[in-house]
Amino acid sequence: MSRPVENGIGGDFEMYSPEGNWDNYYYLCVFPDCGAVGLKFSGRSSRIECGFPHTAGKNYTTAHPALLNAYAAGRAAQFEHGDREVSSH
Ligand SMILES: [Zn+2]
Repeated sequence: MSRPVENGIGGDFEMYSPEGNWDNYYYLCVFPDCGAVGLKFSGRSSRIECGFPHTAGKNYTTAHPALLNAYAAGRAAQFEHGDREVSSH
């Protein structure tokens, strides 16, 4: 079950490292300038490592148009294939 985060759009993920660390509230996000997609804490796209420097700041982009379009396409595909189970988040 996903828990709400103030700025979070879409479902959140729990992240586990090989060293046994754990953290939650990771969201898909997009860095606006280069379009890099990542799964970062609270959807802070400045943390995405794409090989180029990103601007400072957090840059919350869980509602980036690319993600909203992808979520809409996913929902449309569910209906198209007759799946009546609809996610509650
Ligand atoms: Zn980038």
